[in-house]
Amino acid sequence: MARLAQTAGLTDVQQEILSTVRDFVDKEIIPVATELEHRDEYPQAIVDGLKELGLFGLMIPEEYGGLGESLLTYALCVEEIARGWMSVSGIINTHFIVAYMLKQHGTQEQKDHFLPRMAAGEIRGAFSMSEPGLGSDVSAITSKAVRDGDEYVLTGQKMWLTNGGTSSLVAVLVRSDEGHPEGTAPHRSMTTFLVEKEPGFGEVRPGLTIPGKIEKMGYKGVDTTELIMDGLRVPADRVLGGVTGRGFYQMMDGVEVGRVNVAARGCGVAQRAFELGVRYAQQRHTFGKPIAQHQAIQFKLAEMATKVEAAHAMMVNAARKKDSGERNDLEAGMAKYLASEYCKEVVEDAFRIHGGYGFSKEYEIERLYREAPMLLIGEGTAEIQKMIIGRRLLEEYRFQG
Ligand SMILES: Cc1cc2nc3c(=O)[nH]c(=O)nc-3n(C[C@H](O)[C@H](O)[C@H](O)COP(=O)(O)OP(=O)(O)OC[C@H]3O[C@@H](n4cnc5c(N)ncnc54)[C@H](O)[C@@H]3O)c2cc1C
Repeated sequence: MARLAQTAGLTDVQQEILSTVRDFVDKEIIPVATELEHRDEYPQAIVDGLKELGLFGLMIPEEYGGLGESLLTYALCVEEIARGWMSVSGIINTHFIVAYMLKQHGTQEQKDHFLPRMAAGEIRGAFSMSEPGLGSDVSAITSKAVRDGDEYVLTGQKMWLTNGGTSSLVAVLVRSDEGHPEGTAPHRSMTTFLVEKEPGFGEVRPGLTIPGKIEKMGYKGVDTTELIMDGLRVPADRVLGGVTGRGFYQMMDGVEVGRVNVAARGCGVAQRAFELGVRYAQQRHTFGKPIAQHQAIQFKLAEMATKVEAAHAMMVNAARKKDSGERNDLEAGMAKYLASEYCKEVVEDAFRIHGGYGFSKEYEIERLYREAPMLLIGEGTAEIQKMIIGRRLLEEYRFQG
């Protein structure tokens, strides 16, 4: 076995894309990632490189200038990128979700307007459901839109926007009362608005403010922000799909593919942690031999590699299921849950193998140790994944007695 996490049955095109991305990660991302992360610096040169590689349009259909690739190709690229630096995968993830939602649910005019420039990386996407008072419980959203002639007026506060500052298009989920009388189920009275804005911070459009970056323990470099709407006027033709009341379902569709993506990130970070652990274990000597020769450390390496393989297999399965056109919520939920938990465990084992040096900022594992927890939360916590998995299992295994 040459390396862990091989994927059988890839086409020549997929293999070529992956090898180009891997090469880019090894040469352009890994050597600079830790330094940039410690400085919380946006990786502009890396983003420019990804643009050149066409990564921002990987899954956008060819007719709109993208590469028209599958979710599997995309997820395998994300795995490679996260192996280099998880924050970079965060920069493309929300862009990818918004492009996917436009492709699946946008009007023809919306697709023609946004997708070609998104494929080129000129417009970059962020998506916004969470608010200060809610994350898991999306149905509790309080931000709202009120119709006023050919426009909607949006008011409310959003929280935790990945790429909130650097993006120029935000898909925002709010409650809309028009056509949805009092008492309508929350899921049927939500609408996704496509909000265009200038990148940057402060008042980026009349009625729309992006305060500064939220300070985070890890996952630095990529900006995470709040978003404040105070009388923000959005034209009616910027309702995703042109019809109000469908936003919840559109967002959930986006989050489902986003879950495969987060699973892929977990796989990539775990792989890097394994690489760091297995290398260090052969360099460090205690009691007259490399620590890799102590059985306790070898067992750790065995457990870590097994987890890397298992998470990769589940992630690939979930992506392939979606690509085949089937419902994949169960597989995506399982893959996201397992990959993020295993990632945290593998990173912790690699940290332990490093002994005291793992605590030093000079060692890459210190960065991974602060990054892994984000995957336990983003795109739905472990508890939320288990709720989805449990519900689907009870549908499949309904007791007939
Ligand atoms: C770095 C970062 C980037 C993010 N980026 C984005 C983004 O781009 N766009 C966006 O919209 N959001 C984003 N988020 C928000 C993220 O999706 C939420 O943080 C996440 O969904 C959890 O919501 P919460 O933080 O409100 O926790 P809560 O929902 O308050 O949950 C708190 C705890 O209670 C548990 N819990 C909640 N409900 C139940 C239940 N019914 N049963 C059992 N346990 C339960 C949760 O699992 C968790 O352990 C980001 C978050 C972070 C940290």
